[in-house]
Amino acid sequence: MLIPIVGADSLALITYPMTEEEKYYREKVWPRVLASIAQWVQEFPQQERDRARKDFLLAEIEKVREAFIQGCAELALRKDDLTYWSEKRLASLEKRMYKLGMDVKIVTGRLESISPEMIARARRYPIDTLVTVRHGKALCPFHNDKHPSMDVRKNFYYCYSCNASGDVIDLAMHVRGITFKEAVNQLQ
Ligand SMILES: [Zn+2]
Repeated sequence: MLIPIVGADSLALITYPMTEEEKYYREKVWPRVLASIAQWVQEFPQQERDRARKDFLLAEIEKVREAFIQGCAELALRKDDLTYWSEKRLASLEKRMYKLGMDVKIVTGRLESISPEMIARARRYPIDTLVTVRHGKALCPFHNDKHPSMDVRKNFYYCYSCNASGDVIDLAMHVRGITFKEAVNQLQ
């Protein structure tokens, strides 16, 4: 077995024989583990795994959403010197939410036989065709909004009043009362 050893002044390769324990793991234990993983994969078809993954992603989105709400509250309380960091944190949570939103849609798309390309195209469909956006703000269709409290950025919305958030596909589903599949097909 070759093990790279980083010395004080040079990189040297030394060899040493496999121990009995290593041999046992490589030859007996590891193949058994691989076989049981393969069997597990066979027992749970792709659809089952996709559903489990979707549940996991939705739970993650909920966590990020809660952190975002908390971050907004903190931002409102904080003094000027900390505002920069709060905003940075919110921006990174927003990024993560966007990424999770894409992942959950790819999985949903797979369950509904929609390609990731179609989803990506739908996600780029201008959001202002669904709501009127002025200076990055819109009236929130998720609650009875009198003054625009929905933030619209990069084709993504977030309501500071009712905490609704999502992308243009989510918005189309709500505004038009349609399914995920219908929304992706309409936003092409
Ligand atoms: Zn709202």
